[in-house]
Amino acid sequence: MASGETGSMRFDNYMEGEWIGGDSRVENVNPSDTRDVIGQAARSGAADLDRAIDAAHAAAPGWASSTPQQRFDILDAVGTEILARKDELGRLLSREEGKTLAEGIGEAMRAGQIFKFFAGEAVRLPGERLSSIRPGVEVDMRREPVGVIGLITPWNFPIAIPAWKVAPALAYGNTVVLKPAELVPGCAWALAEILSRSGLPRGVFNLVGGRGSELGPRMIENPKVRAISFTGSVPTGRGIAAACGQHLKKVQLEMGGKNPLVVLDDADLDVAVGAALNGAFFSTGQRCTASSRLVVGENIHDRFVSALTEKLQALVVGDALDPKTQMGPVVDEKQLEQNLAYVEIAGQEGGKLAFGGDRLTLDKPGFYMAPALFTETANDMRINREEVFGPVASVVRVKDYDEALAVANDTEFGLSSGICTTSLKHASDFKAKSQAGMVMVNLPTAGVDYNVPFGGTKASSFGSREQGRYAVEFYTTVKTAYTQP
Ligand code: ADP
Repeated sequence: MASGETGSMRFDNYMEGEWIGGDSRVENVNPSDTRDVIGQAARSGAADLDRAIDAAHAAAPGWASSTPQQRFDILDAVGTEILARKDELGRLLSREEGKTLAEGIGEAMRAGQIFKFFAGEAVRLPGERLSSIRPGVEVDMRREPVGVIGLITPWNFPIAIPAWKVAPALAYGNTVVLKPAELVPGCAWALAEILSRSGLPRGVFNLVGGRGSELGPRMIENPKVRAISFTGSVPTGRGIAAACGQHLKKVQLEMGGKNPLVVLDDADLDVAVGAALNGAFFSTGQRCTASSRLVVGENIHDRFVSALTEKLQALVVGDALDPKTQMGPVVDEKQLEQNLAYVEIAGQEGGKLAFGGDRLTLDKPGFYMAPALFTETANDMRINREEVFGPVASVVRVKDYDEALAVANDTEFGLSSGICTTSLKHASDFKAKSQAGMVMVNLPTAGVDYNVPFGGTKASSFGSREQGRYAVEFYTTVKTAYTQP
């Protein structure tokens, strides 16, 4: 794969145990330097998708009856290889997505750890046995594979999100058709390449890159696909949920966030500033768990804003692959324009731009912008209602904890929330009353563990949780079996 540095990589699709070139090809461009074309990705159309689904369908009974040991061995080996190649995979990731090399390597490690975690889950799949209400009858409840699962993934975690869907799908005996985001074909291809050599039977795992708007609906309409797991935007997610309802298909959605980080007057200032900097701006703010709303007590407000602004002034924005870089580029021109448009909107609404927000011209052509911090914003402004998905955060000043909690919960989203405080009382109350699926105390809203559930409330998530043992809910179906011995 090192030869890929020359720009000659081919990211083909994989189905029925074969690599195929698709109907056409799209360029995979490095957002840190748009002169760097990493490679060409296969863009498949309907016929390839149908073939991949047929292959997954044909392979489903065989894989469903594979032993837990077989699944363990394969998933564990995949995890081992990803971990061994974390530097190279992390580099490919940073090159195509734009997060810093440290973040890219960290994400590749995460993907390896997830495969290892689900290798373990494959050999400890629990069932239950109850006494029947009838004499002499035995009842047991067992978890069975769902069948063919369609996985649709976004660009912001090009290897971790495919991993956290593919690994549990396979661990619990399902077969898979993965449709990754077109902006990041390299990582999906690399994962497919590892899986192709892992001993998985033909057709168990299939990769189909192509246009989401074309392949997504077709995947959902196909009766051979029994479930869809999607991570992406709210509008796309809504459409998928509606279509899955129509086709009576199991569905799991992870979508946006407008995550509040509350900073109370009694917070440790360094902890709060560190959490805000990491939560709002790391990974160029391109995380659904990003701390985009900073809800700050009036007595700490000025100190917090000036300390955070100082950090932003010092933050090195640059090429993702440069070790000095602390914030890489935005993923593409469209996303950069969206970010700049929100900077404009926030200003027009009366927000005060405390720092950044402008496009940066560096020594190479890339999608760079300075991180943006707004102060004096109200929670009903668009900048505090709508997800930007970029390095843009806004401060809402509040007078006390009660107002902070109300502001934090006043959103259509509910993915992650955080509070920085030294008060046990307020921390406990926030954990209980925050209307988010994940709550952090003295930690950034982003940055989660892989062995516990991930997901939110309200418009952020739909369906059962991803990750950790809770993934079993989505990737299995329950059978209740009665026996009269
Ligand atoms: P993002 O901003 O992360 O690209 P999207 O919701 O647009 O959010 O895309 C997430 C994933 O969903 C991508 O893989 C994309 O190709 C796919 N996608 C886009 N439109 C549809 C659709 N109508 N049905 C299913 N998947 C879609």
